[in-house]
Amino acid sequence: MNIKKGDTIEVLSGKDRGKRGQVLRVIPSAEFVVVEGINLRKKHKRQVQTQGRSLTPGIVEFPGPLHLSNVMLVCPKCGEASRVGRQAQGERRVRVCKNCHAVIDA
Ligand SMILES: [Zn+2]
Repeated sequence: MNIKKGDTIEVLSGKDRGKRGQVLRVIPSAEFVVVEGINLRKKHKRQVQTQGRSLTPGIVEFPGPLHLSNVMLVCPKCGEASRVGRQAQGERRVRVCKNCHAVIDA
């Protein structure tokens, strides 16, 4: 996985192509990411009564999952949607932008 929670990505395909957003969640097993404001889906909620509380009915928008192959990491240094390489730095392996060669992980 070259993408982590908190990264900014750019969408490469679909109706949100070209949009950028912050990664809210990564699902490594399925290679999906959930990105703020991208791939919004609507869920229609009924009014429900649970233990005296009533949940507000209406339409809830929430971001749906995107496959990793449809997103690209935006480099925080050069601001370009970039391919990511890996480089050993001491004991750690850090991500490196293939565009500007900056280390992405601080
Ligand atoms: Zn870069």
